[in-house]
Amino acid sequence: MTGSLFIITAASGTGKTSLVKQLLATTNDLTVSVSHTTRQPRPGEIDGHHYHFTSVDVFTKAIAEGQFLEHAEVFGNYYGTSEQSVRTQLQAGVDVILEIDWQGALQVKKIFAEAIMVFILPPSVATLRQRLSTRATDSTDVIEQRLAGSVNEMSQYVHADYVVINDNFEVALTELKSIIVADRQTLRRQQQRYSRVITNLLSDPADQS
Ligand code: 5GP
Repeated sequence: MTGSLFIITAASGTGKTSLVKQLLATTNDLTVSVSHTTRQPRPGEIDGHHYHFTSVDVFTKAIAEGQFLEHAEVFGNYYGTSEQSVRTQLQAGVDVILEIDWQGALQVKKIFAEAIMVFILPPSVATLRQRLSTRATDSTDVIEQRLAGSVNEMSQYVHADYVVINDNFEVALTELKSIIVADRQTLRRQQQRYSRVITNLLSDPADQS
């Protein structure tokens, strides 16, 4: 039994992290991959839970050793996904979410063509600016830098399989969840999950009386 790989990508300030958190709280057999990053922890962020916070040296060594499924530089920091941990979870039949930027998303799509890429967009520039500004942990410079980069990031939505507009949180959550639920009803998943039932259904009824 193999799980599915979901890539969730968005410009920062789109509400992606809150959506993923709520999705995890309300969906079984679903996990999010904990990335490695060289960025400094924000207040309240826990090493090993939000990110594996690493030095540039350790990160560079991990790249050289081929430990990452994908890695990218985002806003001057490195981010990467451990290949081993993703494959282990998938093989255990768990669905895995990668909450990563578009550069990483495209790398993953090349390796896992069957990965499902979801792009989350904000409803307007005004909403994006407001969401970035209310995240008080970032300085004004960082906020402006992120806003400036967001147009380029958002233009990558064309590579996605699904697009969710996060205007109303509950609506966006339902739409996101429906993508996962639909994937669980695909032929591949149902053949795995119900292999014995299907074998019985398709065998000669006379043998089962
Ligand atoms: P933040 O520093 O705000 O947590 O994340 C900045 C950006 O880096 C976000 O777009 C986030 O999705 C992305 N990101 C987080 N982890 C990874 C990762 O492992 N790989 C890539 N490529 N991007 C990541």
